[in-house]
Amino acid sequence: MKKILDTPSEAVTDFITGLVAHSTGLTKVRGWNVVARADIGDASATQVTVLSGGGSGHEPAHAGYVGPGMLSAAVLGPVFTSPSVDDILGGIRATAGPAGALLVVKNYTGDTLNFGLAAEMAKADGIPVETVIVRDDVAIEGNSRVGKRGIAGTVLVHKVAGAAAARGLPLTEVAEIARSFAAKVGSMGVATTPCVLPGASSPSFELGDDELEWGLGIHGEAGRERGSMASAREVARVLVDTISGLTELGAGSHAAVLVNGLGSTIPMELEVIAGRVLAELRDRNVDVRRMWVGTFLSALDMSGCSVSVVNVTETELALLDAPTSAAAWPRSPGHVPATDLPELSVPEGTTTTRESDTRRGADLSPMITAIKAAAKTVLDSEDHLTELDRRVGDGDMGINIARGARTLLHQVDALARESTEKTLLLRVSELLRREVGGTSGPLYSLLALGAAERFTAEEPDAAAWGEAFTSGVAAVRRIGGAQVGDRTMVDALSPAADTLTREVRAGTDPAEALRRAADAAEQGARGTAEIQATLGRSSYLGERAVGHPDPGAIAVGIWLRAVSTSLAG
Ligand code: ADP
Ligand code: MG
Repeated sequence: MKKILDTPSEAVTDFITGLVAHSTGLTKVRGWNVVARADIGDASATQVTVLSGGGSGHEPAHAGYVGPGMLSAAVLGPVFTSPSVDDILGGIRATAGPAGALLVVKNYTGDTLNFGLAAEMAKADGIPVETVIVRDDVAIEGNSRVGKRGIAGTVLVHKVAGAAAARGLPLTEVAEIARSFAAKVGSMGVATTPCVLPGASSPSFELGDDELEWGLGIHGEAGRERGSMASAREVARVLVDTISGLTELGAGSHAAVLVNGLGSTIPMELEVIAGRVLAELRDRNVDVRRMWVGTFLSALDMSGCSVSVVNVTETELALLDAPTSAAAWPRSPGHVPATDLPELSVPEGTTTTRESDTRRGADLSPMITAIKAAAKTVLDSEDHLTELDRRVGDGDMGINIARGARTLLHQVDALARESTEKTLLLRVSELLRREVGGTSGPLYSLLALGAAERFTAEEPDAAAWGEAFTSGVAAVRRIGGAQVGDRTMVDALSPAADTLTREVRAGTDPAEALRRAADAAEQGARGTAEIQATLGRSSYLGERAVGHPDPGAIAVGIWLRAVSTSLAG
């Protein structure tokens, strides 16, 4: 299980070294694993010091929340292990001033013991200390004497406590605000993969590919149950249901929400989940006032998420909104619009790709036959093309052009109602431009556009088709910048267009001319296997692409052959 570290056992110390070295506002307490505000001397002269911490592996928690307006210091234990009493006491003694210290502690036996003993010793030293224990995890109902665990909701407690302290309120008041807020926070998580400790060779627990662990702890402790993999909608529904069932969150409440990634969850998933969570809360008539989405308190590289919801008062909202420069607190104010804002619309009539044309009764059926044949064969070759692109590109070529093929087939009746070759090709160009994407999308769109430009209202003969194809290929070359020999689709398109034009001029039967054009395309495509790419994604591979043909060129051979066959009969 790979992690880029030096010595796994030194990971926490090395983490602190890196963090402090590049962060102007942060320093370290000498001799102890404590990250503190660099200006703590001045700050603690006028305000309560707020400390938190616990085992490491939850980055950016807790060191990322150290800064004006949030934590004064974070005490970091080894991965998933509480810091020692001495680390915590060192942290308190190095940072607390006359106003005293508030300790924000997640409810785990190790943490409550170590922070508890450190608090007693600091008090004996004459430092006023108050402690807030966070027990936000509603998954484990806490009928045991240990009680519920502290998870990501703790970050919201940091924010509220830090803002209250920054206002200069006395210790008992800061503690009271933090305690009553913490008591209302409900959180619950799900995991889709376990995590791997630095230096460990196997994951913390096993979870099948099709399984989901509900209510999992942030150290990989057992959850409430294991189920089959679920959708974002389902996850949001269960989490919101459980949280609202076990907290004071009801219809009409005002909520602040944290959607938290557990370490390896991609931002895209988190936003999808956030949207579903918001919808679930709105369905329950909860007024979501603030929402933040990101990785706030992780479990190493576990993937999955947790949702924290708290029923907030206006005073608490103001504390959540108060400024802080702590690096890991989001810069976004988290304001949620009461309803979805209207979408922007594109003004009509700015594009003039369609031209009016008056030729009646144009027989477009050969074109429609050709389009259907080309599209069907592209769909049949999707996997093959994707496989070729996987070897030399990013593996989406087949998917990209299959999307175009599907669109054309879907729209084929509408295309058949177009009035001329020109309007039909303009419409094809527009559909491909919109649907295909990647590099192929715009280039195929240009191929059709460039060809369309050569048609007039007159009925085209074979020579006109040759010229139109050549004009389309010229557009691809002009905009894409590729010449023959660059290992792109041009290596198939160019010889095909040249052959078609030459054969038609020489008086060859059009169907035979097209067959020879398809031969030329296939031959050009095969030839790309000998060339090193200089354009497109294959160019990143250099010599490694040699031996594999260019997927874009192969695709041209495939559909041109289908067009030729369909028109031959
Ligand atoms: P992407 O590389 O953006 O994922 P696709 O997979 O849709 O794009 O298409 C890849 C194909 O595009 C290549 O196989 C090649 O034939 C073609 N191609 C790449 N760059 C160019 C270019 N500059 N001109 C013409 N064709 C190109
Ligand atoms: Mg690709």
